Amino acid sequence: MPLTIALSKGRILDESLPLLAAAGITPSEDPEVSRKLVLPTNRPGVSLMIVRATDVPTYVRWGAADVGIAGQDVLLEHGGPGLYQPVDLGIARCRMSVATRRGFDWAASVQRGARIRVATKYVTIAREHFASKGMHVDLIKLYGSMELAPISGLADAIVDLVSSGNTLRANDLVEVETIMPITARLIVNPAALKLKRDLVKPLVDALTAAASRKQAAPA
Ligand code: ATP
Ligand code: MG
Repeated sequence: MPLTIALSKGRILDESLPLLAAAGITPSEDPEVSRKLVLPTNRPGVSLMIVRATDVPTYVRWGAADVGIAGQDVLLEHGGPGLYQPVDLGIARCRMSVATRRGFDWAASVQRGARIRVATKYVTIAREHFASKGMHVDLIKLYGSMELAPISGLADAIVDLVSSGNTLRANDLVEVETIMPITARLIVNPAALKLKRDLVKPLVDALTAAASRKQAAPA
């Protein structure tokens, strides 16, 4: 029986490859160079499927991939329901934050209950965060380059992923609130776990072990 692992190029793939290698799986060609979207591996029947980060849960939910690797941001925003999330892989580590233009008095605006406009790709996460604080904000959905919103006057603030803070700094933005830490999770199609247990269970166990070894001795 074949086993398909869905993941996205970039950070997720870069940081997943060492964990997959520790689980005995290496792609037979360099995924960053190859134009193939389905990559065979050293293990017969096991392949990697390269999809857009936000599409990973969809492929796994519909069973087009058996397992996948997706950021917690994607799972919260685009739905984890119908998926097992057995392992926090501890990779692609960052945080979901609120940022404003340097000089914007966020605390004062919040305190006087000003009508605040927030631009983000993560409207679900943002809505829940501000609702939990009892704040009314106008959310503006964007699909990328969120940093432009406060600079251009589209919004007062953004909700976005931050790791080093370099992108914020380069655009004269400052982090004013941290919403939550974010890492990537292994996700598993429940039917695949049942029907392909002999293949899926050892993979889940090997990735769990590799992730906890990495946690214990961070690179
Ligand atoms: P694109 O950037 O091509 O529009 P994307 O944002 O969906 O696509 P990536 O930027 O590769 O794709 O992000 C994939 C995942 O990596 C995110 O869902 C998140 O979990 C994680 N991630 C995103 N930004 C960072 C960051 N600055 N630091 C660490 N991990 C991040
Ligand atoms: Mg990105």
